[in-house]
Amino acid sequence: MSNIALSQKSVKLMKLCDQKGFDSLDDLLLLALLNSACPGICMTEGCDHTAEMEPDQDQGFCEACGGNTVVSILVLADLI
Ligand SMILES: [Zn+2]
Repeated sequence: MSNIALSQKSVKLMKLCDQKGFDSLDDLLLLALLNSACPGICMTEGCDHTAEMEPDQDQGFCEACGGNTVVSILVLADLI
């Protein structure tokens, strides 16, 4: 087993996939690209609240922890 730590971005991307029931990140990204609202996830450690976001949102309000910490999946994946 490797000890390379995944970046926080990768961890959050995988959690978002998990929560949305997608096996592949590509499938989820494709869905996000085809829709005007795309899934986002809170970047706060320990908070994995997800919400529909504008595609370019990088500081959306998190209803779970109250921070402006929800980032759209497209921003997370560095696609926009
Ligand atoms: Zn949060």
